[in-house]
Amino acid sequence: MENIKLTPKRKEIIERMHFHSIIEILRYYPYRYDIYRNESLSMAKHQQKVSIIGVICSNVKIERITKGRMKTSFKINSNDNLVNVIMFNRFTNSKFLFEGARIALIGKYNAFRNELTVSNFKMDVNSQEVKFIPIYSLPSDIKDSTYRSLINYIYQMALEYHLLSNTIPDEFMRKYKLVSFEQAINFIHNPDSDEKLKQAYRYLKYEEFLSFCILGALKRDLYSLSIDQKNKKIDYDIIKNFISTLPFKLTNDQKIVLKEILDDISSNKVMSRLLQGDVGSGKTIVALIALIANYTAHFQGAIMAPTDILARQHYQSIKKFLKDFPNIKITLLVSDMTSKEKNQILKDVANNNVDIVIGTHALIQDSVRYYNLGLAIIDEQHRFGVKQRVALKEKGQQIDVLYMSATPIPRTLASTIYMDMDVSTIENYPYANREIKTFFVNENEITKIEKKIKEYLLTKQKIYVVCPSIEESSLEISNVIEIASQWQKKFIDYHIGVMHGKLTNEEKTSIMAKFINNEIQILVSTTVIEVGINVFDANMIIIYNAERFGLAQIHQLRGRIARDGQVGYCYLLSDSQEVDVQERLEFISQNNNGFKISEYDLKRRGAGDMLGLAQSGKSPFRIANLIDDFNILLVASKDAKYIIANKNKYPKIINNTIKILEESEKYVD
Ligand code: ADP
Ligand code: MG
Repeated sequence: MENIKLTPKRKEIIERMHFHSIIEILRYYPYRYDIYRNESLSMAKHQQKVSIIGVICSNVKIERITKGRMKTSFKINSNDNLVNVIMFNRFTNSKFLFEGARIALIGKYNAFRNELTVSNFKMDVNSQEVKFIPIYSLPSDIKDSTYRSLINYIYQMALEYHLLSNTIPDEFMRKYKLVSFEQAINFIHNPDSDEKLKQAYRYLKYEEFLSFCILGALKRDLYSLSIDQKNKKIDYDIIKNFISTLPFKLTNDQKIVLKEILDDISSNKVMSRLLQGDVGSGKTIVALIALIANYTAHFQGAIMAPTDILARQHYQSIKKFLKDFPNIKITLLVSDMTSKEKNQILKDVANNNVDIVIGTHALIQDSVRYYNLGLAIIDEQHRFGVKQRVALKEKGQQIDVLYMSATPIPRTLASTIYMDMDVSTIENYPYANREIKTFFVNENEITKIEKKIKEYLLTKQKIYVVCPSIEESSLEISNVIEIASQWQKKFIDYHIGVMHGKLTNEEKTSIMAKFINNEIQILVSTTVIEVGINVFDANMIIIYNAERFGLAQIHQLRGRIARDGQVGYCYLLSDSQEVDVQERLEFISQNNNGFKISEYDLKRRGAGDMLGLAQSGKSPFRIANLIDDFNILLVASKDAKYIIANKNKYPKIINNTIKILEESEKYVD
């Protein structure tokens, strides 16, 4: 990077975009293209996005329609069709628009009025040509054209310094007839035909999946121990006995995943398994039975939750389940305990006076020494980083690990992308008819639903109210404190509690306790209540600024309600007028299945928080899409397995992937 000459302006752009290398710049792909071509309007549907090329055949009329809003209109002759064209604001007084000028247009077609509302146009395109203009996501003051010329220059530099050698082994290049990396990069930034763009996508998508799959397989190598003698003998009688004390029958899915887990525990391989199932699908009891199995094999177990509140809740429910099994000694370990308490617990854990520890990340701190940790269960695995995995591994020699996720993805997809884990899936709820009625209210206020809320409160049940932020300064964001006081004025007969991340754990616990004991009926909160909280008679949730939440997150949030077979009511409030947002919120109002929701999310937004990569904040896929490109993923996954099994044959891609892995660990805390 130091070696190349850059004008101050280009240098500034590169700095502002936080690019550190030529490759990084070239890896920042366009997120879409404006494609100018001569399409026929006779095929176009109403409101479809189209592009036409033609000659302006009327005078160009400019008028002011409202204050500050200008409209330009004219007729164009495109393939002997006359079309009305309108443009707003942006192109007023363009010197390129005059009767007789040949232009290419992109816009939305109104079939009833035979009218095109133009979003962009271009001069130098002839009617046989197709012109692709790459569109990048850029800060608003960096001009597209400036950026494109920077890219072209950087690409030339990359060629000069020979930086674009193929990243995919020759054998697979040939097998799939891929264009070279050099071409792929050129075509993605500068396609001049659909075919070239397609070739660029083929290379880059396959490359992305291949590298992702190799990474997954390498992680498995790195974190899992393969030992010859694990020697865990489970006493199945005790387990059967325990199951018979449960107030319910295990569902079929629970039985199946339990068998998979117990088989792992008693095998010679160390378990690295993901248990995925929708919120409320009953993962906790499966986890507990696994812990009991591990106990019967004379090992200690631990269950780790992402927050204090959740850890306490797990502790309470496990204590209840185990009330007839006093021999199994359990303890809670969280950060806000007196050091005297903590020291005693640490001693007990080290001396094997404790069989199951329930806690937060405190469980893997250096100070915690286990007598013989044999099973660790990580609730909400996506919050668990690489470093924590390493720390966990250092706690013992034979630690089976079970990760749990309430953001399930379809089975075939899961087994393909989680290469570092085996996957067990609970697909069906214990309550098949679990009912959460979700309503999208296109307004960020409760005026419309106030009556419903009052009626609901009369049934003596409680309400969660969720807001996205607590910063009082930001005006558009409703904050908990303000919302709480609004609610207090409307619902004077009820007690309102406020909960957010800035409270101490003690304060949070005390508020939760009040909510459970009915000293508080309405809990206004940030997303600290997101995961796992279980308050039996809170069956309504109201989410402000719902557009700010991911669908998976909304689904988690509403998973708090309608527990144990009751009807739940979820209201999503948003005054957003964006079509995209409205579509998403409509979708989640009509779909209650976690798998469907994650699929929709994956399709629309990429992989994001689903893949345990939330901590790096980045989706591993810049260009590929897990749903649309699933076939490429399958091929890449197979090839990755082959490459890993024949490491010596493929040093380059293996080394590159190790580098990526090391890079990613640097940023995980
Ligand atoms: P999650 O998968 O979200 O962690 P939980 O384990 O908290 O779900 O289970 C949700 C509720 O369903 C709990 O109250 C739990 O006791 C109950 N439950 C679990 N399994 C069954 C079952 N087989 N039949 C009836 N209720 C069950
Ligand atoms: Mg749970």
